[in-house]
Amino acid sequence: MAQYKCFKCSKPISSKMLEKRFVCPHCGSKIFYKPRMQIVKIKAE
Ligand SMILES: [Zn+2]
Repeated sequence: MAQYKCFKCSKPISSKMLEKRFVCPHCGSKIFYKPRMQIVKIKAE
């Protein structure tokens, strides 16, 4: 299951909550990111 994180309050938000309204239920922010994307980092060798 896809899970997002709010960019403002950094609280986890499930994709189901965003299906109804694409707004953070905690702070009303509309900016989200996937935590997994942050794990992927390009390392310079
Ligand atoms: Zn929020």
